Amino acid sequence: MYDAIVVGGRCAGAAVGTHLVRRGLRVLVVDRARFPSDVLSTHFVWPHGVSYLNRLGVLDEVLAVTPSHEQVNVVNEGVALRGGVPEELLRNQFRALHGDDDGITTQYLSVRRHILDKILIDNAVRAGVEFREGCTVKELVTDPDGTVVGITDRDGNTERARVVVGADGRNSFVARALGVAKFDERPRCTFAYWSYFDGIPVGEAQIHRRGRLGMAVAPTNHGQTMVLTWGPSEWAADFRADVEGNFHRALRLVSDEVADTVAAATRQERFYGTLDQAAYLRELHGPGWVLVGDAESFKDQCTALGITHAFRDAELAAEAIAAWLGGVDRETAMAGYAAKRRGQNAAAYYDYVCTLAEMKPLRHDEVQLFSILRGNQGEIDRFIATHVDVAPVSEFFDPSNVFLLNDTARETSDRHAVFDDFEATYLASHTNPFARTEAEAAR
Ligand SMILES: Cc1cc2nc3c(=O)[nH]c(=O)nc-3n(C[C@H](O)[C@H](O)[C@H](O)COP(=O)(O)OP(=O)(O)OC[C@H]3O[C@@H](n4cnc5c(N)ncnc54)[C@H](O)[C@@H]3O)c2cc1C
Repeated sequence: MYDAIVVGGRCAGAAVGTHLVRRGLRVLVVDRARFPSDVLSTHFVWPHGVSYLNRLGVLDEVLAVTPSHEQVNVVNEGVALRGGVPEELLRNQFRALHGDDDGITTQYLSVRRHILDKILIDNAVRAGVEFREGCTVKELVTDPDGTVVGITDRDGNTERARVVVGADGRNSFVARALGVAKFDERPRCTFAYWSYFDGIPVGEAQIHRRGRLGMAVAPTNHGQTMVLTWGPSEWAADFRADVEGNFHRALRLVSDEVADTVAAATRQERFYGTLDQAAYLRELHGPGWVLVGDAESFKDQCTALGITHAFRDAELAAEAIAAWLGGVDRETAMAGYAAKRRGQNAAAYYDYVCTLAEMKPLRHDEVQLFSILRGNQGEIDRFIATHVDVAPVSEFFDPSNVFLLNDTARETSDRHAVFDDFEATYLASHTNPFARTEAEAAR
């Protein structure tokens, strides 16, 4: 009999397992995969995610094989903003969520999942987790009243526990077996294609947006650079018809400079891609069960936050589960966790990402906002913090702040070239650049 069985052993599962054994609980983690192995992900980690790696005790191990940097470049319609999440805002967030700010770091990194997930699960095992890989859960064991009390794997082995944690990803078996429905689903999302290149001298991550297309470039493991492009799902089928050609076409449409650099580099792996990043939420817990990570909620990765949020939720959930198993009734024990996960900021940020994921062309006033931020480092940093859910969306985009920014910019900002021909740029960005003729599409 275990205190907890965790189904899924990657970002959410390995982290929740580690936090639970650190609280003195007996934990079994199972995963149908064998490690090291990859999952579909572009694996960029923002400073709060890197701070969680530090809190888990694996940051040095990750940094030994992964390049890191202290700033990012965010370029919207050619308006370049370079900055980083302010340490003070990070500390505030960790204190509000976890009651302390231990392990805070302002580094950024992009770590391949076959590396990260192996480090995480080995760390969990060192902490005291029992781990079974290659173990597919095929049934949940329940009491007559419906309370979950264990799992049965594909080979017919049954294990029992006081709580079963579903950390088994977007297609969560645990959620499906329990009939936990998705809600607030947002089907409009981006398609994304990426690969890995040698010979790109890039020290910091760059994130670009032009028209309805996005592009990111980030240094990663093995001396390689990950290059990613994305766009609205309405264009996905046309893009997919010629992935390599359209990948380079998209880069060219977003930035000549990056397109030239990538064209001169050597691709080391095949293209990876996804057409489905539809967002959803699910209930967090019920009798004998808790969901964490993508099993509980997912949103488009245009802000690259799934890993970071999985670490955050694993730590929050472990604290609540420990209280519950320590004798506090489930609703009370989970209430604080639920408030942090489903509070006003969480709802506003979910909506922010889902709206971005529609990849509508940036409006004139939005580009203006980016333009007036130039030269105002404090506000650039606050914008980046807002974009990645460290500062509340409601504060940065509050009209009083936007008016303030405009006032300051009146004295400091010059007009950006993007406004010289904004109408043509805006109209052109509505046209699908990957469109095929009817005959091509039918072939
Ligand atoms: C295209 C794309 C790009 C992304 N880019 C980023 C990014 O740049 N940065 C970022 O932070 N996030 C990114 N994400 C999101 C991130 O990958 C996920 O949020 C993260 O992997 C969630 O971790 P998880 O542990 O919840 O689930 P997963 O990583 O999906 O792990 C779930 C595990 O459960 C196991 N499992 C499933 N069913 C069973 C079963 N029945 N029995 C046993 N085991 C089972 C699976 O084998 C798997 O190992 C991206 C996602 C996508 C789709």
